[in-house]
Amino acid sequence: MSRIDVVSTSGGKDSTAAYLECLERTGGDFLAVFADTGNEHPAVYEYLAELPRRTGGPEIRTVRADFSGRIEKRRAWLQSDAAERRGWKPEQIARALDALHPSGTPFLDACLWKGLFPSRKRQFCTEFLKRAPILTEVQEPLILAGHEVWSWQGVRADESLNRSKYAESAPSPELEGLTDYRPLLTWTVQDVVAMHHRHGIPLNPLYSQGFGRVGCFPCINANKAELRLIAREHTWAIDKIREWEVLVRKASKGQLATFFHQSHTSATTPQQIDGVARWSMTRRGGKTFDLMAHMPSPTCVLAGGLCE
Ligand code: SF4
Repeated sequence: MSRIDVVSTSGGKDSTAAYLECLERTGGDFLAVFADTGNEHPAVYEYLAELPRRTGGPEIRTVRADFSGRIEKRRAWLQSDAAERRGWKPEQIARALDALHPSGTPFLDACLWKGLFPSRKRQFCTEFLKRAPILTEVQEPLILAGHEVWSWQGVRADESLNRSKYAESAPSPELEGLTDYRPLLTWTVQDVVAMHHRHGIPLNPLYSQGFGRVGCFPCINANKAELRLIAREHTWAIDKIREWEVLVRKASKGQLATFFHQSHTSATTPQQIDGVARWSMTRRGGKTFDLMAHMPSPTCVLAGGLCE
C-alpha cells in the first residue's frame, strides 16, 4: 500500500506553509486540493493559481460541493404531504419552491437546501463545503484504490485552545486508511511567515489589506473590524450577501434567515446584512457612529503584528 500526501489549501498563510513544507519534504510528489465554497475573494483564486508557478509545486485541484441532489429532494419533500403536516402553509411552500433551485454556488446552495445560514452553533459550512468534498472526491477514491492517505492540515496549536489539543498525527475518525497530519502544530506565526520568505512567496494580499484570516468573504465568524473593512471597501460582497439573504429567506419557513446570527451584533432582532454593515461602523455596542470607520484603512495590518 503506497502512501499519498494530500495537502488542503485555502489561500491562507497556514495552509500555504503546509504546501511549502510538503514541497520541501517530498520534492513535489504530493496532491494539493482546494475546496471552493463559491464565497471566496477573487484574490484567493489568483493566489492559488499562482502558487504552483511560483514554487514549482503541484497544481492545486479545486473541488466544489454539489447540492443539486439534496435540493431536488427538498423540493420533493415540500411538494409532498409531509411539508403541510409539519405546518408549512401553501403560500410558504410556493415561495420556497420558487427560490429552491441550484445556483451552482456551493455556499448559497447549502443554505438554500438547509433554509438557513450557518452560525457558530450550527457551523455546517465547514463540514459540507470543505471537509466533505475533499473527502469524497479526492481522499476516499485514493483509499478505495488501495492507497494510504495522509491529510495535511495547516493547523497551529497557538491558534486556539481547541487546536492546542490536537495530535500531530492520528488516524482519521472519518475514514479507515486516512491519517490526519498537522505538521505545523508547534509552529508560530513567525515560522509560517519565514517559510513564505524562504520560498519567495508573498502572503495572500488580503492580510495586508487588514484581514486577520483568509477564508469565506465574508466568513460567518468575521469580526467587527473585518466587517467594517468589507462594508467600506468591498461593497460587492455586501451586495452578494443581500441577494443571498433574499433567496434563503424565501426558501425558509419563517423568512427570518440572515447571514449573520443575531448574537453577532447583540441586537434584539436578527439583522440583515445592511444592518450588520451599519453596526460595523459603530462603537460602544452600536450606539455611537464611528467617524474613524470612514477614514482610509491603514496598510499592513497583519494578524500577529507582522508584515512583509
Ligand atoms: S471560512 Fe467561515 S463561513 Fe467559510 S466555511 Fe469556514 S467557517 Fe464557514
